[in-house]
Amino acid sequence: MKAEIVSVGTEILLGEITDTNSSYLAGQLPLLGIDLYWVSTVGDNRNRIVEVLKRAWGRSDLILVTGGLGPTEDDLTRESIAQTLGEEMKVDAALEKWLRDFFASRRFAMPERNLKQATLIPSAQALPNPRGTAPGWWVERDGRILASMPGPPAEMQRMWQFEVLPRLRPRLTGEIILSRTLKNYGLGEATVDEMLSPLLSSTNPSIGIYAKPDGIHARITAKGKTREEVQPLLDEMEAKSRRILGKYVWGVDDETLEVVVGNLLKRRKLTLATMESCTGGLLASTITDVPGSSAYFKGGIVSYSNEAKTANGVDAALIDKYGAVSHEVAAAMATAVKTRLSADIGIGVTGVLGPDTLEGKPVGTVHIAVDAPGRSEVYPRNLNFPRLQAKRLATTAALFNLRAILLDMG
Ligand code: ATP
Ligand code: MG
Repeated sequence: MKAEIVSVGTEILLGEITDTNSSYLAGQLPLLGIDLYWVSTVGDNRNRIVEVLKRAWGRSDLILVTGGLGPTEDDLTRESIAQTLGEEMKVDAALEKWLRDFFASRRFAMPERNLKQATLIPSAQALPNPRGTAPGWWVERDGRILASMPGPPAEMQRMWQFEVLPRLRPRLTGEIILSRTLKNYGLGEATVDEMLSPLLSSTNPSIGIYAKPDGIHARITAKGKTREEVQPLLDEMEAKSRRILGKYVWGVDDETLEVVVGNLLKRRKLTLATMESCTGGLLASTITDVPGSSAYFKGGIVSYSNEAKTANGVDAALIDKYGAVSHEVAAAMATAVKTRLSADIGIGVTGVLGPDTLEGKPVGTVHIAVDAPGRSEVYPRNLNFPRLQAKRLATTAALFNLRAILLDMG
């Protein structure tokens, strides 16, 4: 099956929004063994939408359209599909009732403009959209399928998962492609490549190595007729890779570091507190991205100035002697917050992110301290990167340092 994605919206052409719908859908298709050949973006202009749709209808078996299903005059996707296929749009009584009830239940009068959202053409079925007012269209004719979904990503993704996929699955034959990502930290890209080199010549499954903000990813990809056939190929390659990479593998697929660390803390029944300077609270924010993090996270202090550090238990004499960005002050921050918030573990982060050097220390100097039961460590880092990237890298590094200590605790 040859597929094509068409995203509709002038905002995308102007660079005001990023076309995440296309990348989302593009990521879904390999799992189904569908080959994606074209992605097009077109503005809210009927003639040009029709031109793109005609070309797609002529060359692709599956066309996925997103955007332009709203009630306004520049939402032209339905009209353009109807024109492309030479079919007439008519209001569907059941859809109209649904739409009027939707507005009535919210005590709004329905603007008559919305009525076009209740239209269909003879080749289309409506795809329900519980997250919005615009139903999608499932169009099937001449051995081709066109699915038209709303632009807002949450609505689009729900419609894809619950409406489009179930209709598509029975029509698919052929191979599926599955992949699994092993996430590593502490090794360089070239080192991972070298270590895995005995496995790299394999073609099914194959392995690719990618440098990402949270370490080096080894992505295993396998093809086959069914999930049952492909899964064991992935399992076997994962086992081989893990034997080589060992403790450097910290997560799989969409696992995040904050979830992995949170699970380790929960398992060991330990609590955590943070005192941050240069990361400005990003570490605490990242830790609390995890549902249930209140089970182990006591809280964080953003001690950006020296006053804030001393007010929260860091000895002023240490700052005078070594400077705020130092091994000693990082360690004192970790210990102070651990004591203040009665946590089992404290983390202190201090650094210089620029624009100027501080205390004679170059931009990018960061010290990360972890004060854990029976063990305290301070890790020096050099993170001379643009500010936001440096904050993210320092946060990731702090979580990895904590993870290493938690693993050593057995
Ligand atoms: P609405 O009923 O909200 O008007 P719609 O189906 O008409 O929905 P559009 O008007 O094209 O969709 O887009 C609405 C919003 O959805 C955009 O402002 C944008 O925030 C988001 N959106 C649209 N297309 C995309 C896309 N391809 N990728 C990411 N976001 C998108
Ligand atoms: Mg719209």
